[in-house]
Amino acid sequence: MIYLKTPEEIATLKRANQLVGKTLAEVGKAIRPGVKTIELDRIAEDFIRSNGAVPGFLGYGGFPNTLCISVNENVVHGIPSDYEIKEGDIVSVDCGTIVDGFYGDSAFTFCVGEVDEKVKKLLRTTREALYKGIEQAVDGNRIGDIGHAVQRHCEAAGFSVVRDLVGHGVGRDMHEAPEVPNFGKRGQGVLLKEGMVIAIEPMINMGNRAVVFEKDGWTVRTIDRKPSAHFEHTIAVHAGKAEILSSFDFVDEVLKNK
Ligand code: MG
Ligand code: MG
Repeated sequence: MIYLKTPEEIATLKRANQLVGKTLAEVGKAIRPGVKTIELDRIAEDFIRSNGAVPGFLGYGGFPNTLCISVNENVVHGIPSDYEIKEGDIVSVDCGTIVDGFYGDSAFTFCVGEVDEKVKKLLRTTREALYKGIEQAVDGNRIGDIGHAVQRHCEAAGFSVVRDLVGHGVGRDMHEAPEVPNFGKRGQGVLLKEGMVIAIEPMINMGNRAVVFEKDGWTVRTIDRKPSAHFEHTIAVHAGKAEILSSFDFVDEVLKNK
């Protein structure tokens, strides 16, 4: 069942997702060598609550924290811990909120200090691929058009697309239909319609696309232990052009002044 959203519901989803964007920026300010990922989690939880909202991930399916923080070879769903971030790490921060009953969901992968040039290219390519996917997310296109655009862009750069995890519809539940794979064929899959709200979230690996669960039951990491990048926006499908409900503007502003 795919729930189409009214303009009022999309406005609420936008508030939830803008708050995620602002939270990611608060986390971005604090990311530096020596900081523990659990400290970043506290910053995010405090910020979300001080804005009158509820962390979307905390308790979701039993997840213990506000953020998923996945460093280097960890792809997604990393649990904040006493791990101290170090120079050269890449840190994927995935954040969810609930505002007036609707979810926000967005992720950004940060560089810590000087990062290997090839890893920076992985991040750049993944972020670009997200926007290539968003360009395809218009009324009348199909889910496969999104995945195809993401896959083509990343594979052309020599990277691989994680297939075991996918994007999703977003609404009163964080994970609604349809699934939004980051691979696919043009013109195939679910028809996109005005009012659909989906999270597009390429998870792109430097090496092989294969991933495995860590023993904690949550963290997904690359089997070859090479780095992985993750960028995610929640968007609303319209005729002609998608509306990006989340935002990297707040993060970009912080990074510019860092
Ligand atoms: Mg997410
Ligand atoms: Mg998501």
